[in-house]
Amino acid sequence: MTSTEVLNNYTIEEISTDVLIVGGGMVGCGAAFEIKKWAPKDMKITMIEKAAIERSGAVAMGLSAINTYLGDNTPEDYVKHVANDLMGIVREDLIYDTGRHVDSTVRLFEKFGLPIFKEDEDDTRTIEEGAKPLRAGRWQIMIHGESYKVLVAEAARKALGEENIKERVFITELLMDEKHENRVAGAIGFSLREAKIYIIKAKAVIMACGGTVNVFRPRSQAEGMGRTWYAIWNAGSTYAMGYQAGAEMTTMENRFVPNRFKDGYGPVGAWFTLFKSRVLNAHGEDYMQKWGHMLQDYAPYGLAKVPATCLWNHVMLKDWMEGNGPFYMNTSGAMKTLFETLPEKRKKSLEADAWEDFLDMTVAQAGLWASMDIDPGETNSEVMPTEPYFLGSHSGACGMWVSGPEDLAPKEYQWGYNRMTTVNGLFTGGDGVGASGHKFSSGSYVEGRIAAKSAVRFVLDDPGFTPTVHTDNKVLAEKVYGPMITFEKFKDYSTESNVNPNYIKPRLYLFRLNKLMDEYVAGTSTFYRTSEASLLRGLDLLNRLKEDAPKLAAANLHELMRAWENYHRSIVGELHLRHVLFREETRYPGFYYRTDHPKLDEQNWKVFVNSKLNKTTGQPELFKKPYIEIVPKN
Ligand SMILES: Cc1cc2nc3c(=O)[nH]c(=O)nc-3n(C[C@H](O)[C@H](O)[C@H](O)COP(=O)(O)OP(=O)(O)OC[C@H]3O[C@@H](n4cnc5c(N)ncnc54)[C@H](O)[C@@H]3O)c2cc1C
Repeated sequence: MTSTEVLNNYTIEEISTDVLIVGGGMVGCGAAFEIKKWAPKDMKITMIEKAAIERSGAVAMGLSAINTYLGDNTPEDYVKHVANDLMGIVREDLIYDTGRHVDSTVRLFEKFGLPIFKEDEDDTRTIEEGAKPLRAGRWQIMIHGESYKVLVAEAARKALGEENIKERVFITELLMDEKHENRVAGAIGFSLREAKIYIIKAKAVIMACGGTVNVFRPRSQAEGMGRTWYAIWNAGSTYAMGYQAGAEMTTMENRFVPNRFKDGYGPVGAWFTLFKSRVLNAHGEDYMQKWGHMLQDYAPYGLAKVPATCLWNHVMLKDWMEGNGPFYMNTSGAMKTLFETLPEKRKKSLEADAWEDFLDMTVAQAGLWASMDIDPGETNSEVMPTEPYFLGSHSGACGMWVSGPEDLAPKEYQWGYNRMTTVNGLFTGGDGVGASGHKFSSGSYVEGRIAAKSAVRFVLDDPGFTPTVHTDNKVLAEKVYGPMITFEKFKDYSTESNVNPNYIKPRLYLFRLNKLMDEYVAGTSTFYRTSEASLLRGLDLLNRLKEDAPKLAAANLHELMRAWENYHRSIVGELHLRHVLFREETRYPGFYYRTDHPKLDEQNWKVFVNSKLNKTTGQPELFKKPYIEIVPKN
């Protein structure tokens, strides 16, 4: 719908609910499934999702593996693994909590109908009945996962009821209660299909909009722009809206720079662990063997049996700087070796695992191979670190600072309700919870379930509360439709609608953000390097960009979504920049370098960096929070 049609015809629908779930990804679906078990019959639960929950979020295309399944490992092992991978600074209480619940959630997925590979292919039992899942590494199990999201969505729909799920609705902002300080009171958003604003008043909100893609300039440009590693529709809404509501943020300096098949973004993990493949430099050398000694500089994280993910990038980048790139995954060699050694029966399924499974979770990789005439059994493919991403559930750690479980969290990390942020009534999970990565799909679902249970308790503990939002509905609606109002006002000023001195289109706003983040905040063009001077220059440009945010213009509903997405992205960009500036060390070499503080500084910086919006100045305040060890490391 065009801006003219929308602005002339729009209506406002007000919804009153008890618990609002924003985002129907793994967290949202986990929360929806769990919540009805704890909520009294008359408690109203509403879910809002910008897409359609069957194919939304980071699991939309499906997955080939569930990356967190403990099996014979203990929650303590899991904490040690995650802590090492994230260079020591993690919330061990939260990780332990996820670890102790995750296997029962995986068993639940199998009950929903998810096919899980078994060690013995002929074993028809479920895991619960004693079958051993086929591992693709210490923590991963293999699945036929093309319908993974469809299955969890079906369970969420059945639990909540169709009438309580609104899809194709984009949430722009959280609403705060007028009578109670620091208490959430709902959210506001707009339909992407019709001229309608939704104002939802809620006693508790579970914010679950995933992480952030495309803050940095992606490697693939122009015709390849749609290809990214991370889910293209997760635009930082979780972090931006949480931060603006006043939630304390944590570890926003962290980013994930996945080392993946170049430009196709196909996963490499199974190639390493299942097919025993190696990445070699242009001269056929193993860069890890060549430069492995560099890991000693990052003890203890570099000396673990499996060094931290960022350090693998660090070593590869060193080899690249020495002029030894490009790098190739030795797919052809690995497949030939396996075919020589495997029994006939296993060869067919191996081939399926190697090629066809890319189709379910990374169709772009299959497309790229097809278009370049590559048979990976014959031709090796390039591997390269990508542009940076922000997430809290995969191998990253940014997100909100949340209250931990009562029985595990030290008092500094606990204020009543598990997975509640520092804003009363605002809960989160998965990518929304900071300093506790490596949850992946299964762990995110677990956190959705935990958040749901806590949100119900929160609402029941305060039966007298009614959300109060004083701002006039029309004023709220005009803010949401602001970019359309701007477009309508100035659209006739120029003949080319994208070029106009009175406004900025979302696409151009995004290009400006991408460029400044890439060039000053350690993107790919600087090989992930930055310094205080660079960051301050970046901040200057970012402030100028933010000045233009009120001039964003949208000609239709789709562009309106882009305007809000890119605005959310720019808030995430600023938070990241400021956190990188505050942390005066290089904690994640291979993900980014502070060239003016190139070393790891355990003595001064083994702490969390947290931030919070000062609502009076409109600026973030940054401060340190102590890291408290719960599981002893040796
Ligand atoms: C490329 C990639 C590969 C992965 N591979 C694996 C794997 O092999 N195994 C594994 O176990 N895990 C894997 N994961 C991790 C897993 O996908 C995530 O941990 C999990 O999806 C996080 O759950 P979430 O609910 O936080 O976010 P998501 O599942 O991404 O859900 C976020 C939801 O919020 C919605 N949303 C966003 N913004 C708004 C808004 N403003 N208003 C309304 N709705 C909004 C989105 O549409 C989406 O439905 C992978 C992730 C990625 C990105």
